[in-house]
Amino acid sequence: MPSLLLDRIFMLRTCLLEGVFLLRMCLEIIFQQRSILRMLARASGFKTCAGCHNPIGHGRFLSCMDSVWHPQCFRCFACNEPVSEYKFAMHDDQPYHRSCYKEDFHPKCDVCDNFIPTNRNGLIEYRAHPFWMQKYCPSHEDDGTPRCCSCERMEPRAIKYITLDDGRKLCLECLDSSIMDTPECQHLYMDIQEFFEGLNIEVEQQIPVLLVERQALNEALEAEKNGHHLPETRGLCLYEEQIVRMILKRPQIGPGNRILDMITGTYKLSRWCEVTAILILYGLPRLQTGSILAHEMMHAYLRLNGFQNLSIEVEEGICQVVSHLWLGSEIFAGSSSNVASSSSASSAPTSSKKGAKTKFEKKLAAFIKNQIETDSSKVHGDGFRAGYPAVERYGLRRTLDHIKLVMQRK
Ligand SMILES: [Zn+2]
Ligand SMILES: [Zn+2]
Ligand SMILES: [Zn+2]
Ligand SMILES: [Zn+2]
Ligand SMILES: [Zn+2]
Repeated sequence: MPSLLLDRIFMLRTCLLEGVFLLRMCLEIIFQQRSILRMLARASGFKTCAGCHNPIGHGRFLSCMDSVWHPQCFRCFACNEPVSEYKFAMHDDQPYHRSCYKEDFHPKCDVCDNFIPTNRNGLIEYRAHPFWMQKYCPSHEDDGTPRCCSCERMEPRAIKYITLDDGRKLCLECLDSSIMDTPECQHLYMDIQEFFEGLNIEVEQQIPVLLVERQALNEALEAEKNGHHLPETRGLCLYEEQIVRMILKRPQIGPGNRILDMITGTYKLSRWCEVTAILILYGLPRLQTGSILAHEMMHAYLRLNGFQNLSIEVEEGICQVVSHLWLGSEIFAGSSSNVASSSSASSAPTSSKKGAKTKFEKKLAAFIKNQIETDSSKVHGDGFRAGYPAVERYGLRRTLDHIKLVMQRK
């Protein structure tokens, strides 16, 4: 399925620009001249301290915030130490040391972990991912900070993402459930076959599902005659006979978190039915791989069941709907099963693990669903938005029957 990365990047940029939050630097307003801390040398005996409520007595006292205080009673709300500096910060009517205020309220960058700098106008300006709300200094947009190829979160300086052999970066949480070889992909294929049966749309032929590297995917793409796929494709449903290089064994992760020893082998596709194979890009987390596989299996279903001349919007739209439905079913399966959830990096990625189990997986499923819903492209995005309400109302089966009817009338 064309991942529409270009569209996504464009959309992401738009959202990010909209998400440029300008926070007036509270500090600046707060070190107001009006809250001048005045130290008076002599006391006026009958005033009461706003801190301890005892008489001020004779001695030094402070006059600020419309009250008078013993110097040791005027304390920082954060660290509870007396505030003796001339300038201090206020928040919710509480005084703070300037440094304590900054520590508590000045936003920190989720990438470099420094305070987000103020711009020329004294405003704190940061970017935030529209879904994950990871916030970061604007400079990281062009300083080469990598993003995870699946969840799109930026790599924090303290953590090293995995580098796949085609240069893609993968965060450790996505790595945790990543599908890395063709045998692993078969569990997912069976899960999705079952899901299709539940939707009453069986793909009767066994279709080879091969996990491949970027290069193999691009080569297969070129060899196919129908050319409506985008260069950043992550999955492909093939209709032609060709030889494909697939990944046989999960690669090791070597020094510098780089992938080592990719073991591949060739697979000759034969055309004993209309669909010769489904190819999926390796390395993506299970839920993303599954969403791509569900999409491609729907292409296969359409091809095998006589939906030959659909408009591209209708075809891609309905494939996106199925992908979206599968993600929804995974979130549901994850929350209805009593599996202990943990996001540690220890889980074995080989067995069939139906359902979004960890908190991160649930969030990732929601993220991919959101990507499908908000895809700004005409074919996949508009196609999905046209198809989804119909499927919601009439079910997939009846929607398909209707599509076929319209198709035959043409
Ligand atoms: Zn597609
Ligand atoms: Zn006092
Ligand atoms: Zn303090
Ligand atoms: Zn930063
Ligand atoms: Zn990720």
